[in-house]
Amino acid sequence: MREPLWGVSVSTMDAKAHLVPDPIPTPPPSRRRNDAAEPRVLRPRRAAPSDCVRPTRAEVNLAALRHNLRVLERHAGTAQVWPVLKADGYGHGAPAVARTLERAGAKGFCVALVEEAIELRDAGIRAPILVMGGYYGDAHEEILERELIPVVYDPAHLEAFARAALALERPAHVHVKIDTGMARLGVRYDALAPFLDSLASHAAEIEVTGLMTHLSCAEMGQLGVSPEATTEQLARFEVACAEMARHGVRPAVRHAANSAAVLRGDGLFDVVRPGVSVFGFAPRLGGDGPSLSTELRPVMRVRTEVVDVRSLGVGEPVGYGATFRTSRPSRIATVPMGYADGMSRAVSNRGAVLVRGRRAPIVGAVSMDMAMIDVTDIPGVTLRDEVVVLGAQSGPSGSDVITVDEVAEAVGTIGWEVMTDLSRRVPRFYREP
Ligand SMILES: *Cc1c(COP(=O)(O)O)cnc(C)c1O
Repeated sequence: MREPLWGVSVSTMDAKAHLVPDPIPTPPPSRRRNDAAEPRVLRPRRAAPSDCVRPTRAEVNLAALRHNLRVLERHAGTAQVWPVLKADGYGHGAPAVARTLERAGAKGFCVALVEEAIELRDAGIRAPILVMGGYYGDAHEEILERELIPVVYDPAHLEAFARAALALERPAHVHVKIDTGMARLGVRYDALAPFLDSLASHAAEIEVTGLMTHLSCAEMGQLGVSPEATTEQLARFEVACAEMARHGVRPAVRHAANSAAVLRGDGLFDVVRPGVSVFGFAPRLGGDGPSLSTELRPVMRVRTEVVDVRSLGVGEPVGYGATFRTSRPSRIATVPMGYADGMSRAVSNRGAVLVRGRRAPIVGAVSMDMAMIDVTDIPGVTLRDEVVVLGAQSGPSGSDVITVDEVAEAVGTIGWEVMTDLSRRVPRFYREP
C-alpha cells in the first residue's frame, strides 16, 4: 500500500493528492470518551520512502546506532543506558531507532513529550519510557494506561496523577526531578519540603520509582577534570536524595547523565540518558575543544543529486538577491534541497557539500527548496551526480566528509540543532551498513 505523505485531513474526493488521512490505531477506552464530540485527530507524517520522487533523502545506518549503544554501555559501566529519543529521535525517526535499540538491548527510553512516548508505544516498544517534559495536559490516565513514566516536580502533578491512579485502581509510578542548578524544571534541591508533604499525602496512589536531575555544564572543564558546576550539581543531588530518603522516598533508580557526562564518567548512578551521542555526535570539551569521544560513528548521511548544471561567464549573479557573483567562468549546479528541508539559510555563501568526492562551496542564498553549488573545480559534474550534504562520500575526485560539527560551525549553532533541523520533508531510509 502506498504510504501517505502527510496525515492531515483533506477531502477524500481529491483522489490524486498525496494528502490522505493517516490510519490511527484504535485508542484505548479512556480516549474514546467523547468520540462524537471530538474532532478526528490526524497526525502529521513524514514523507515516506515509497513516495520518494525527489532524490533528497537521509540514510540512517542502523549498525552505527547499535555500535554507539555498545560504546555508551561501556562508558556507563553498571548503569543502564536509556537513550533519549526526543524530537523524533534527534531527527532520525524515533520508532525505527527505538525498535533497533530495544532489540540491541536498550533497557529504557526517554522522550520529552507524551506524544513522543505514545508514538513509541504505538510502534510496539515495550521498555520503560520516561516522559521528561513535565506537561501532561489531561492525559494523566492515558499515561498510566500506556505504562509511561512521567517526570514530576510539582504538587499539582502529584494531585493529577493521584486522581488518575484512583480512577484506574493502580498506583502511579513516577520519577521526581530535582533542580540542582539548571533552573529549568524540577523541585529545587534546597526547597523540597512542600513537595515532600504533598508526596506523603499521596503515598497510597503514587510510588516514586526514580530520582533525577539534569546537568547544565557536563561538557565543560578540562580533560580529566570534571567541571565545577557538575561537581556542585551532583553534590546538591546527593543532598536532595538524602533528604528524600529521610522522608522514606528511596527509589532504586537515580539518574543524571546526558551524553557529555556519560562520556566523561560523571554522575553515572543507575541509569544514564545519552541523546546526541547515540546518533554519533560527541560533544566537544567546552563546546569547541577536543571531542569527548572518537569511538562513536555518525548514524545519518544526507544525500541528494545534481538536478541542473550550467556554465556562467564572469560577473554573473547566482540566486535570490544576487548575493553571489561569479569571479571567473564558472560551472554552477543546482541541488534540490533548501531551507524547508533543513539546509539552513545561514549556510548561504558559507557551507559546502560533496560531489564526486570533493568539496563544492554553496553559492548564493539557499532558497526554500533548492541551493546552488560551485562545481567549477570538480571535473565532469553532470546531472544526477550524488551530492552529500552531511556525511562521507568517495568519488572519482577524492574522498571527504561533511561533519555535523562543520555544519554547526557554518550555521552558527550546535550539533544538536543541526540534527533536529532536518525536516520531515526529507524521507529517512533505514539500512544496515
Ligand atoms: C535532551 C536531554 C538529555 C540528552 O542530552 P544529550 O546532550 O543529547 O545527551 C538528557 N536529559 C534530559 C533531561 C534532556 O532534556
